[in-house]
Amino acid sequence: MAESKRDYYEVLGVPKTADEAAIKKAYRALAKKYHPDANPGDAEAERKFKEASEAYSVLSDPEKRKQYDQFGHAAFDGGAGAGPGGFGGFGGFGGFDGADMGDIFGDIFGDIFGSRASRGGSRYQGPMRGANVQTTVRLTFEEAIFGCEKEIEINYKEECSSCHGTGAKAGTSKETCPKCNGKGKIMYTQQTMFGTVQNVQTCPDCGGTGQIIREKCPDCRGTGYITRRKRLKVTIPAGIDDGQSVRMAGAGEPGVNGGERGDLLVTAVVSKHPVFIRKDINIYSTVPISFARAALGGPIIIKTVDGQVEYEVKPGTQTDTRVRLKGKGVPSLRNRSIRGDHYVTLVVQVPERMNEEQRQALQRFDELMTGKISKEEGGHKKRGLFK
Ligand SMILES: [Zn+2]
Ligand SMILES: [Zn+2]
Repeated sequence: MAESKRDYYEVLGVPKTADEAAIKKAYRALAKKYHPDANPGDAEAERKFKEASEAYSVLSDPEKRKQYDQFGHAAFDGGAGAGPGGFGGFGGFGGFDGADMGDIFGDIFGDIFGSRASRGGSRYQGPMRGANVQTTVRLTFEEAIFGCEKEIEINYKEECSSCHGTGAKAGTSKETCPKCNGKGKIMYTQQTMFGTVQNVQTCPDCGGTGQIIREKCPDCRGTGYITRRKRLKVTIPAGIDDGQSVRMAGAGEPGVNGGERGDLLVTAVVSKHPVFIRKDINIYSTVPISFARAALGGPIIIKTVDGQVEYEVKPGTQTDTRVRLKGKGVPSLRNRSIRGDHYVTLVVQVPERMNEEQRQALQRFDELMTGKISKEEGGHKKRGLFK
């Protein structure tokens, strides 16, 4: 086994003269790169991680390093053997130096899982911005297109005025947490694949604040905050679409340790319109026209979001003809000088009922058309039969 093992300095990629800081730095880089949590299911990465961890555990300990320098891997052969949970020759030299590993792991996990690791620790470290809060506002189709002012009601969390945010009953104050002695963190021992490791955890009693409240403020039940309903005016910009949000800076959750408040995000829920369909900045609708108007052409009235407009249908318009009403669409949210178009599909309608006079007129029209066709194309019936 000793023969097949790589040199510890080689594993960490440092010279034999490397100082403690250089060794730690080299190990940090390797551990971060090959950590199993960063390489799930990668056996080779896991092997390299173990190899680097083993090398580090020896070279970071001045005593073990001296022995290793003198005797090489043989220094640790035939020792206590693999401990429970250890693996080949690794548990044999007594596992890690707990405190140091806890320290370096805290660093590495902090790098890999930034938010998770910092959550416990950062409560201590100065101001933290409050969380963003989300709510919705219902808008009609037209309100979304032209913009409007809306009043909404939200749950607004703010510092309790009775205890000024401490959560402690008036006349009392917070006390140092006895479980962690005010550190906010506690050490705990963990069995891992490379032996017993001491690690740091956020104190469960004080949640990492290092302080506990003996007598809670009755007004906020010790939370330091009260929540009340608050009415707010929201300016909805013209052109907002369903699902888009308006950000109201500073209307979110309060910050911690003097951090600024988070934002309120108001998401538009836009009602459907019975006639208009919106796609991005364009509007679509369908307008029925009589077959006579389609054939003869002439003015029709089209409903738009700006009101009714007159449109001149060309003679001989076929059904499903699409016409564009330029600039009758939705104002662009990004550029106020841009407005979309309104596309109208003209659907030619055949009358379902006619009075006698109308029927005769249409009959007469048909005879005229048929007579024309029969002269030119060989007749109505024939065409119907052989087409
Ligand atoms: Zn209070
Ligand atoms: Zn505590």
